[in-house]
Amino acid sequence: MKRYVSLEEISDGKLYTANDMVRADCLGCNGCSKCCHAMGDTILLDPCDIWRFQKGLGKGAQELLAEGKIALRVVDGVIVPHMKMQPVSEPGQALRHPIGGPGQALSRPIGGPGQVLRHPVTDQKAGQEASAGEGEEKCPFLDDEGWCTIHEHRPGLCRLFPLGRYYEGEGFRYFLQKSECDHPKAKVKVSQWLGIPELAKYEAYVLTWHRIQKQAEELQKENGDEAFARNLNMFLLKTFFLLPYDGESAFYPQFERRLEEYRKIVPEA
Ligand code: SF4
Ligand code: SF4
Repeated sequence: MKRYVSLEEISDGKLYTANDMVRADCLGCNGCSKCCHAMGDTILLDPCDIWRFQKGLGKGAQELLAEGKIALRVVDGVIVPHMKMQPVSEPGQALRHPIGGPGQALSRPIGGPGQVLRHPVTDQKAGQEASAGEGEEKCPFLDDEGWCTIHEHRPGLCRLFPLGRYYEGEGFRYFLQKSECDHPKAKVKVSQWLGIPELAKYEAYVLTWHRIQKQAEELQKENGDEAFARNLNMFLLKTFFLLPYDGESAFYPQFERRLEEYRKIVPEA
């Protein structure tokens, strides 16, 4: 999602690799679940997240859409699923949580000091002010005690928070969102914070998915035809999200097969 922001404003001014130490460890969150509340439609999901849901919950995108736990939106011209916030059943109680919040593995994103970066492309669980009382919303997978019920299978942006991804050139690095979580934090290695097996493979996948979305946006701009945009979007949606994943099998070969289908119509993604 492109954002017109200065990374200096939202980060600690540094960019990190998976091997770097970063002050992102919220130390168990200590009863907080703020970043699982009032997030609007900002917790975007990628194909690997949908596979994780299939593996962990036995449900894919179609089931979760039907249950209203996820929804679709257009981001930079491309239709993607996102977590669908739900009304809190007991207004005013949602931020009263026991020790060990869901955010233990939530993460977010950096930028060079003094730079005002136009059109940086970042992946981040973009924080919003958690509201209290009537109208308050929370993630559908947060229980009434403030625990993430899908911790092992939570989406990539939740794993990342309070880090985010900053794309530059042919790669990306991580940045720390300095105002999204005001809990005391300890230093932790980025790879440890993410807790994602085969991280190098995952990062390569993240880049590929990022390129596909960027390419889809550019193609639509170049073509300028509404029917083309609709058809491309439906193809992406069906191929990478709606076509069920096998939760018992590894994700990357399944993604590669879908990528091959995509490359038949759009080469060089
Ligand atoms: S990551 Fe930060 S905002 Fe999220 S639950 Fe933990 S302490 Fe709260
Ligand atoms: S999936 Fe879990 S960690 Fe992510 S927003 Fe929902 S409750 Fe929080």
